[in-house]
Amino acid sequence: AKQAGKNRYRFYDEQMNRTQTRKMELEKDMRKALVHEEFKIVYQPKWDSRTDRLVGMEALLRWQHPRLGMISPAEFIPISEDTGLIVPITRWMIQEVCCQNKHWHDSNEMKVSISVNMSIRVFESQLLYEMVEQALNVSKLEGEHLELEITESIAMSDVANTIEQLIALRGLGVKVSLDDFGTGYSSLGSLDQLPVDTLKIDQGFIRNSDQRSKQAIISNIIAIAQNLDLDVVAEGVETQEQIQFLRSKGCSIMQGYYYGKPMSSADMSRWFEAKQL
Ligand code: C2E
Ligand code: CA
Ligand code: CA
Ligand code: CA
Repeated sequence: AKQAGKNRYRFYDEQMNRTQTRKMELEKDMRKALVHEEFKIVYQPKWDSRTDRLVGMEALLRWQHPRLGMISPAEFIPISEDTGLIVPITRWMIQEVCCQNKHWHDSNEMKVSISVNMSIRVFESQLLYEMVEQALNVSKLEGEHLELEITESIAMSDVANTIEQLIALRGLGVKVSLDDFGTGYSSLGSLDQLPVDTLKIDQGFIRNSDQRSKQAIISNIIAIAQNLDLDVVAEGVETQEQIQFLRSKGCSIMQGYYYGKPMSSADMSRWFEAKQL
C-alpha cells in the first residue's frame, strides 16, 4: 500500500511537471507568436431570432502553434495575463477587428458591431482608452461598431476605476457588454451605476435551461435587463428548445452553435451570404 501511494505521488509529480513544462514552453513561444502572426481571430454571429437578422459578432482569439497545433484561449489567455503579453495581444486584436469591421461596413457586406473580450490586466494597464482611440483612428471605424466585453469580476474589482474608464470609452461611442452575467460576484448592487449596454447570460445557465432553478435565474436576468433598459444576449445556444424558452421570456438575441460556430473572416462572409439566399 505504501508503494502504491509512492507511485501515485510520482504520477502526480510527473503530471505536474508536464503541465509546468508546457506552460513554460507556451510562455516562451508566445513572445514570438505576435510577430510570427500565429494568432488568428474568429468571429461568431449574434443573431436576433425574432427579426431573423444578424445583430453583432464576437471576436475570439485562436493560437495556431507551429508544433503544438491549435491552442485554446482557455489555456493561453491566463498565461498571457501572467506575463503581461495580454496587453500587446489585445492591442493587436482591437486593431485587427476594427479594420476587418470597417471593411465589412464599406463593402456593404455586414453592418454590425463586433465585440472584443477584455482581460482585467488590460484595465489595470490603463492603456485601453489609448488603444481603442488609436484603432478607431487608424481604421476609421465608428466607435459604436466596436464593443467591449467585460466580466462581472473585472467590473467589480475596482468599481470606481472601471466606471471611469468605461465612461471615457463610451465617449468614443464604444459599447460595453457584461459577459458571463450571473456567474461572478454579484454586481447587482452597482449594476445601475455601471455604464453598460448589454447583459450576456452565461452559457452555463443556457446549457442547463431544462432545470427549473436555471430557468428561474435566466428569467430574472432577462427581467433585470428589461427593467434597466439593457439589451440581453443568450450565449451558448445550441437547441431549438433553448431558443423557445428564451423567447418566451423575452430574450431574442442568441449566440451559439445553433446559429453559427466561431469562424474565420472569410467563412463568416460566406456564412452570411448563404443566410441571405
Ligand atoms: P467567452 O468570452 O465566454 O466566449 C464564449 C466561448 O463559448 C467561446 O469559447 C465560444 O467558442 C464558446 N461557444 C460559443 N457558442 C457555444 C455553444 O453553442 N456551445 C459551446 N459549448 N460553446 C460555445 P472560446 O473561443 O474557446 O473562448 C473561451 C474563453 O476565452 C472566452 O469565453 C473568453 O473568456 C476567452 N477569450 C477568447 N478570446 C479572447 C480574447 O481575445 N481576449 C481575452 N481576454 N479573452 C478571450
Ligand atoms: Ca465573451
Ligand atoms: Ca461569455
Ligand atoms: Ca466564459
